[in-house]
Amino acid sequence: MNKKNLFGTTCKCGKKIKIYLDNHPYGVDDSFVLDVVCPKCKKEQKISKSEIVSFYENEIRGLFDNAFGNVLEIGCGGGFITRHLLKNKNVKSITAIDVDDISFSHPKLKFIKQDLEDYKNIKLTQKYDFLVCKDVFMYLMNLEEILDKILPKCKNIILLNWYNKEHKNCKNKNATPLKVKHIIEKHFKTAKLTYPKIYKWNYLITNEANI
Ligand SMILES: [Zn+2]
Repeated sequence: MNKKNLFGTTCKCGKKIKIYLDNHPYGVDDSFVLDVVCPKCKKEQKISKSEIVSFYENEIRGLFDNAFGNVLEIGCGGGFITRHLLKNKNVKSITAIDVDDISFSHPKLKFIKQDLEDYKNIKLTQKYDFLVCKDVFMYLMNLEEILDKILPKCKNIILLNWYNKEHKNCKNKNATPLKVKHIIEKHFKTAKLTYPKIYKWNYLITNEANI
């Protein structure tokens, strides 16, 4: 599994330049500059923190670009993925669930304030074209019950999470990528587990149609 974070940029020639470092793009000083050489056109260049951060964020958001229709997002947090999906013209609506309020509104967004752990009280009244989430599963002790309740309501999945049992924020130490995949396979026989090389310990589960 990936143990470093992605730093990089897209060169003017179109080639993505990718470098992996121990620190995180958000964590470096504002004055941080990375010297890189494009592997294709060999041009040397300096990339700033803001370029590094936007490249990193775009790589993550890009994993969700296949979503369309009515989308359900669990654990939307501050709306990092929500805002990206709202810009996608193929997305008709987003129902976003989180235990904390979201700080913005949008005509396509329906927000439900709900603790996912309290899965018996999750009320879903429609079918969704997609279930999406980012960095949620390791927080959930009732992960299997929650997924068993939600997945039958969803036709497709794009689920990006991380797992590192040594990390203090990894609450559910049992939610290894393989175990999560097995839970999801009860509902999506073609669930596919991959490890995108973007940030430490990340893994992605999608159904076959969305690779
Ligand atoms: Zn280049």
